[in-house]
Amino acid sequence: MAEAAATTTGEAAAIVEVDVVVVGASFTGIELLHQLRRRAEGRGLRIALVDRAARHGYLPLVHERLCRRLAIDASDLETKASVDVDADARLWVGEVAAIDPAAKEVALADGRRLRGRFLVIAVGSILAPPPAIAGREHLRVYKLQGEQTAAGEALAGLLAGAGAGAEAPRITVIGGGISGVELAGELAHLARSRPEGWRAPRVTLVHGGARLLPGFAERVARRVHRHLQAQGVELLLGARVVEAEAGRLRLREAAGERWLDSEMSFWSGGIQPAPLLAELALPRTDAGWLAVGPTLQCFPTPIPSDPEVFAGGDAVRVIGGEGEWPTMQRAIECLWQAKVIARNILTLAAEPAGYPSGVPPLHPHRLRRDFFHGISLGARSLVVYGPLMLDVAAFGVWFRRFLMRQYFARYRPSGGR
Ligand SMILES: Cc1cc2nc3c(=O)[nH]c(=O)nc-3n(C[C@H](O)[C@H](O)[C@H](O)COP(=O)(O)OP(=O)(O)OC[C@H]3O[C@@H](n4cnc5c(N)ncnc54)[C@H](O)[C@@H]3O)c2cc1C
Repeated sequence: MAEAAATTTGEAAAIVEVDVVVVGASFTGIELLHQLRRRAEGRGLRIALVDRAARHGYLPLVHERLCRRLAIDASDLETKASVDVDADARLWVGEVAAIDPAAKEVALADGRRLRGRFLVIAVGSILAPPPAIAGREHLRVYKLQGEQTAAGEALAGLLAGAGAGAEAPRITVIGGGISGVELAGELAHLARSRPEGWRAPRVTLVHGGARLLPGFAERVARRVHRHLQAQGVELLLGARVVEAEAGRLRLREAAGERWLDSEMSFWSGGIQPAPLLAELALPRTDAGWLAVGPTLQCFPTPIPSDPEVFAGGDAVRVIGGEGEWPTMQRAIECLWQAKVIARNILTLAAEPAGYPSGVPPLHPHRLRRDFFHGISLGARSLVVYGPLMLDVAAFGVWFRRFLMRQYFARYRPSGGR
């Protein structure tokens, strides 16, 4: 790739020129490369991906990774190795400091710069407690690669640290959505099965709403509630964390406020836009997500002012028809969107730059309101689709590992490209 890319040396650092620059190499970014390479027209394109991480832990099973039911090495995608084996592609590892959408230029914090005819933004989201929680730095997040490593080490330190006989430490999970119930269930499962030398924690799940899983059918929420309780999770519903300190949380409940001892507290209460999005001169929604049209272009106007800037994955909200689409912000949605972006890039790449005959019509993303959910709850697991629910015990664990292996195999160069 270094040889294939033309470089322009100016006063500042050299700019690497490629056909497509993709910022973010998680679910959306790596799938976009895969989709471009699947088509003959896409094989000659020089593609640069940029990400601060060279490998990506498999997020759908992050609860198993943290609790060491799943080995870290066996559940990391070796993103850089997978990309770099392609002679015309490269993953540039570094922090992106600035993006100039008009010039389609990306500047890394260390001074390296990249420019493409096409720019794709796939910088996703972050797990972050809201600023309204005082002392929120005491809450652990566990999405980005570095966060997962730090959280896993801290958990191991807590549970393997003290000698036998010491009281079991309390771990609190904040947020009763799908990632919160999964983490609480997995932590509770440590009472049954855990790495050698670990103690089992007491597990508390704090959720502001009156019932778990607000986005799911009531009967699913009831079943999840029952399974967590049966495994010893203390459920505090209608409770909000308003302050965090080392070793304790201040809760606001109907009866008033109180402190809860908590040796470790995980934030699972929702995602926010990646900080880089706020810096971009691109249209955004009120909540800070990138506003894209159904074709996943960043300029959702009838005649795009620059048709070659796309965005996808968690970072975007699709605006079309009657307004904002209820997209899912899930891995499968990233894969679907990457396919649409690849198809549209190839349509545009077939035209001369400047589009003297006009910009050709592009393919829209299709709205799918729901998809199957696997919900792991320690020793139990559910498969859910709308109001339908299968209580499949350990099968879900096995099946989700199977899906992870399929996902990794997709990006193994000999298998997929
Ligand atoms: C705890 C948790 C559990 C989940 N479980 C599931 C599940 O079971 N099933 C499911 O379908 N979905 C699940 N999701 C959702 C799924 O993980 C997301 O939809 C998906 O990760 C979004 O992918 P993405 O490519 O849009 O971006 P992200 O995965 O958010 O990745 C963005 C990438 O951009 C990089 N980046 C961002 N800013 C910069 C910068 N300034 N410089 C350099 N690099 C940068 C980051 O390093 C990262 O690699 C889960 C999410 C979480 C948080």
